[in-house]
Amino acid sequence: LSDKLQNIFSGLKKKGKLSEKDVKTALREVKLALLEADVNFKVVKTFIKNVQERATGHEVLESLTPGQQVIKIVNEELVKLMGDSNNELTYNKEGITVVMMVGLQGAGKTTTSAKISGLIKKKGKKPLLVACDIYRPAAIKQLQIVGEQIDVPVFTMGDNHKPVNIAKAGLEYATKNGNDVVIIDTAGRLHIDETMMDELVEIKDSLNPQETLLVVDAMTGQDAVTVAETFNNQIGVDGVILTKLDGDTRGGAAISVRFVTDKPIKFVGMGEKLTDLEPFHPDRMASRILGMGDVLTLIEKAQDSIDEKQALEMEKKLRNAEFTFDDFLEQMQQVKKMGNINQLMDMIPGMGQQLKNVDIDENEIYKVEAIILSMTKEERANPALLNTSRKKRIALGSGRPLQDVNKLVKQYEQSKKMMKQFSGMMKGKGKKGMFK
Ligand code: GDP
Ligand code: MG
Repeated sequence: LSDKLQNIFSGLKKKGKLSEKDVKTALREVKLALLEADVNFKVVKTFIKNVQERATGHEVLESLTPGQQVIKIVNEELVKLMGDSNNELTYNKEGITVVMMVGLQGAGKTTTSAKISGLIKKKGKKPLLVACDIYRPAAIKQLQIVGEQIDVPVFTMGDNHKPVNIAKAGLEYATKNGNDVVIIDTAGRLHIDETMMDELVEIKDSLNPQETLLVVDAMTGQDAVTVAETFNNQIGVDGVILTKLDGDTRGGAAISVRFVTDKPIKFVGMGEKLTDLEPFHPDRMASRILGMGDVLTLIEKAQDSIDEKQALEMEKKLRNAEFTFDDFLEQMQQVKKMGNINQLMDMIPGMGQQLKNVDIDENEIYKVEAIILSMTKEERANPALLNTSRKKRIALGSGRPLQDVNKLVKQYEQSKKMMKQFSGMMKGKGKKGMFK
């Protein structure tokens, strides 16, 4: 989706003055792109209508940068569609907080239960995981394993008891053992069915959770919307967690789920590791969908792995677009520490798109590292020095073909250019830009 929208918008950006027809044409493209991204058609219709009303308005067509204005409106409407950022969990002020996870089989309930209990633990609370999936073979064992990985206790009673009774017993256990948050991992089925729904309603009625969180797989696109609608109508959910967003290139589910359920997306799952859970930020998601990168998430992520000072420096460099090969190298090395590389590249403005065809794997990073390490200090700080003979020397030194060196330099230059544009945009927006 991002690529498509980027093309549409670069078309708009080039034009000086727009006619109403230009806007209409561009929006038709936007509409097709959204539908193709598997965004629910009702959502698309509302979206296009809202954008069109605003974009064909007087102040846009008469402005000096109508293309930019349209992009701004598309961005704002996207943010609105995905709702406010409300990613805080509600805790019970007196007594134990109950969080109930619901969703189809394979959506990521068990994994996300563990991820969330990790976050809760970080807040200084004492979570307890309760294993209520008695159907899926080895489901209990799975919860025990992930529980152990994040060092959160798991309450189980085997698979011979009714889930509602296990849940109640789990709550009692928590009371006795001083746990203040109970996370209930329930069973899902491959498709929505009555027995599953009845069972979930029974658990919900008897435990009265503060948070009933629906876990949906972002990669299922339109289906995610149907699932969300049904669960919300039959059980009632307080929030949604979109999982596997790391594998979802289309972004359709994120756009539609909120609109259809009117329930906030609280977290997004960004990978299989138990730390890959992030708060959902509609504004950043919109920027990401529009292909402008997600600098803030990148920085937040970096802060977990490197110290804050370094992250701030990086942010400053990104903003000022003074970005040398040393930074490039440093970033690569941090990326290795941080995990999923493609995901991080997507967050750097312009980077995701350029590197799409490069297919970055760990090996690729070692090659890049080898090349940069073969540059002199001066060359790294001032890539303009890199003439052909220097490049040949670097190629020899790194054991990579000259063409790899050229490719890297080109990539670097492109991303630098993108960053310049990007930081220009941020400056233009002043303090209250779209990223703040
Ligand atoms: P459940 O049946 O709903 O409990 O789903 P599980 O928690 O067992 O997850 C099903 C699969 O999805 C597992 O292989 C998980 O590792 C994987 N998974 C869960 N969340 C994510 C995510 O955010 N990203 C990716 N890539 N995989 C995930
Ligand atoms: Mg499970």
